[in-house]
Amino acid sequence: MQQRIDKATATLRSWVQQNSAFKEAADLYQDIFVITEQALSKIKPALVFSAELVAQTLNKQMPILASNQSFPIDPKDFRDITTQIGEAFSRASQKEFPYQKLLALPQFSDENLANLLPLLLQNQTDFIVDFAQNSSYNLEAVYLYVQSIITPFVTATAKPYYQSILQKGHGNVCPFCGSAARYAVLTKKNGGRELFCALCHSRWSTLRITCCYCGNSDAQTQSIFYLHNDAGRRADVCFKCRRYIKTSNERLLGYEVIPEIEDVITMELDAIATKEGLSKEG
Ligand SMILES: [Zn+2]
Ligand SMILES: [Zn+2]
Repeated sequence: MQQRIDKATATLRSWVQQNSAFKEAADLYQDIFVITEQALSKIKPALVFSAELVAQTLNKQMPILASNQSFPIDPKDFRDITTQIGEAFSRASQKEFPYQKLLALPQFSDENLANLLPLLLQNQTDFIVDFAQNSSYNLEAVYLYVQSIITPFVTATAKPYYQSILQKGHGNVCPFCGSAARYAVLTKKNGGRELFCALCHSRWSTLRITCCYCGNSDAQTQSIFYLHNDAGRRADVCFKCRRYIKTSNERLLGYEVIPEIEDVITMELDAIATKEGLSKEG
């Protein structure tokens, strides 16, 4: 755990050294990373799946976790994590982040906690949009908060199956939770392409020249762009569905990356893609 924290911290710090405008973001994501790592050493999986079910669902290309499946979260663990991450948000923006008000919504109450993940997986997130509108808080920040507080629980539950997911998982969505891929890595070990899920941190193998959102494999309608000073990190663009996914090339970078940190330090790629009218998922 400490090794991962040190590596994430070093990567974020060197990013800020190149551009001090990212300091606030780097501080926040570093806090979220540390809180998540520490939580993972404590919290237990919310659900346990048999080896048979895991093998069956992976074979059928179905997510191991059904989107409507009740997902029990320990209320005490939840309070600890929501408070720690809420305080990190307040520190980063130097004003009170209204997480207590958000958590007062019925969707976050102890008795409804088991339904929280199903709501998110089924995109029933109007309550988050309404909250952001009524609190004048940036919707993206509120989404990031909600994702950050649920991720440790989903990750702790997915973790026992990471090896199976990496070996047998394939397709365009996360083999564990069914979310769209958030980030891609070309691996140091074999140059293969792995997709990464931001919600449960699963990784799975996929074809190199196929859009992971629409399945387009025609090279003519795909493109890549880089930032001028960083050949190891790029965005793969599909003009068929006008979406993109960011990618780190470990062989060019010379080390194994932490995808959730790569996702942060490549924000400039997102800015360029957004200007071009491209969108992403996950
Ligand atoms: Zn997932
Ligand atoms: Zn596409």
